[in-house]
Amino acid sequence: MEAKDYNCPSYFPSRKASAIGMVNKKGTVDFFEKPLSVDEEFIQEVQTNKDLELKFRFSGPCINQSCKQWADNKCGLINELEKLLENIPKKSTVSHCPINKDCRWRLQEGEKACLTCVMVNRNGYYSEKEDVI
Ligand code: SF4
Repeated sequence: MEAKDYNCPSYFPSRKASAIGMVNKKGTVDFFEKPLSVDEEFIQEVQTNKDLELKFRFSGPCINQSCKQWADNKCGLINELEKLLENIPKKSTVSHCPINKDCRWRLQEGEKACLTCVMVNRNGYYSEKEDVI
């Protein structure tokens, strides 16, 4: 599996990042039509304003084994999130995502990754029962 061509869907705001969605009032992600490039001013704003950072989801190049989440030749984060959220009701589909053709999580786990992904923000995840935690 050639990892360098895939996108990490849980990237941090930086020059290599694109914004792919915004967290709505329910705490789930509304994905953008296309990935949006971010400029220096926006990156600085988001890096210094954690509330703003939590409102967005970013993607960027997957760095595979150089990432601390990499384990057993794959990204361990999506499996961790799936376990954390396994008992929480999820949507049955995610209608659109701007990186679904080259997303690391979707490559590994298929469409079920998207059902978890849509509930995730930069600092945790959304639960119908417990609100954003
Ligand atoms: S897991 Fe699915 S919804 Fe999330 S970024 Fe990847 S393709 Fe998009």
